[in-house]
Amino acid sequence: MTDPLTAALADGIALSHDIDYLRMRDELSEEEIALLLKVREFGEGEVLPVVNDYWERGEFPFELIARMRELDIVGDTMRGYGTTPMSAVGQGLISYEMARVDGSLATFLGVHVGLAMQSIYLLGSEEQRERWLPAMAAIEQIGAFALTEPEHGSDSVALEATARRDGDSWVLNGRKRWPGNATWCDLIIVFARDVDDGQVKAFVVEKDDPGFSASKIEGKVALRIVQNADIVLEDVRVEDDRRLVGCTSFADVAKVLMGTRNMVAWSSTGHAVAAYEIALAYAQRRIQFGKPIAKSQLVQAKLVEMLGEVTAMQLYCIRLGRLIDDGKLSDTMAALAKYFCSVKARDVCRMARDILGGNGITLDFHVIRHLCDMEALVTYEGTAEIQSLIVGRDITGQSAFT
Ligand SMILES: Cc1cc2nc3c(=O)[nH]c(=O)nc-3n(C[C@H](O)[C@H](O)[C@H](O)COP(=O)(O)OP(=O)(O)OC[C@H]3O[C@@H](n4cnc5c(N)ncnc54)[C@H](O)[C@@H]3O)c2cc1C
Repeated sequence: MTDPLTAALADGIALSHDIDYLRMRDELSEEEIALLLKVREFGEGEVLPVVNDYWERGEFPFELIARMRELDIVGDTMRGYGTTPMSAVGQGLISYEMARVDGSLATFLGVHVGLAMQSIYLLGSEEQRERWLPAMAAIEQIGAFALTEPEHGSDSVALEATARRDGDSWVLNGRKRWPGNATWCDLIIVFARDVDDGQVKAFVVEKDDPGFSASKIEGKVALRIVQNADIVLEDVRVEDDRRLVGCTSFADVAKVLMGTRNMVAWSSTGHAVAAYEIALAYAQRRIQFGKPIAKSQLVQAKLVEMLGEVTAMQLYCIRLGRLIDDGKLSDTMAALAKYFCSVKARDVCRMARDILGGNGITLDFHVIRHLCDMEALVTYEGTAEIQSLIVGRDITGQSAFT
């Protein structure tokens, strides 16, 4: 940044506040607070200083993987297989704190842990869990998750990739679009339709399997650090022991998505908190018409509206986590939380961007990065419209999907 006054405005702006207006922290256990602080220290100390540069270049900071390994933060609701035991709130706090500094690393973990590992944990046999999860828990092997196709996003239930049984193995064909981590991961969970019974099944494809190729989607202006891929499967042959035995229809895929929609609610909240904190600090520092813009009623109204939304999101998330720990979360509850938190977080980021004026669109102040990243969160794991249709069907008893 060339202008010294603007540099002074930006200095430390992303670390100036710790917003917890309704004392969410009082609801957390000591272990959960320790986890939050550990991830916060890593995020603020090691990710924030380098994130804009990686975001701008669209490259992944591979050197941070070793640090994430040391943090011992791979657990989610899984138990055993080298995972770290934690509550669902604890896992949510990891997503929240990571997204508060960088949505791409939060997404990297969400794909690796919430989608890839949880697919194996929820849908794999004991032997399959033992085979893949320990190395993934140690972040030595990285996973990805391939459900979406070029022609089937919201209606992935109609996916067209095929799986044909041939002796002791399966032959996979088709195309996938968007899987995160997929250009460099070690293994990828691929969903394909069994040509014999027409049901969706899950397969563990490894990066070097002949016939598998993944090319990076270029020109992306959200979550630029995450490497999303266009994938081609051309007669990819996998042994039957790489078919996840617990996935016998599309309904089984939904079991995995329920958990990750909860994670998107948490990370959306992290983005919103960051944007709010930065906007508040900026409003207090930025002088116009001889006074801080925070003294303007219009700016205060925006800040209060943002605080209200952020606080509601925080409460949603805590409740979600406790429902998971009590075994009471339903897919429609997760859909409502994903819908509410992602849409509201994008609104909050947009208001923050307004408060920052021109500086709202420079990476130095981080807000535009959070706003762009939120565009992806509103879409992935099912768009806001699809969550709305899921909840609408639940509350009215009428399906409006078609
Ligand atoms: C950054 C990013 C990362 C992703 N990561 C992964 C991943 O790791 N693995 C993976 O498998 N997928 C991934 N996805 C794919 C993601 O889940 C899909 O993009 C999402 O489900 C929407 O599908 P689509 O993009 O094809 O949009 P479409 O389905 O084409 O939807 C376009 C628009 O139409 C609306 N729409 C569709 N149907 C209806 C309807 N019946 N009624 C009303 N509105 C409707 C949608 O809400 C949307 O607004 C990722 C996507 C992004 C952007």
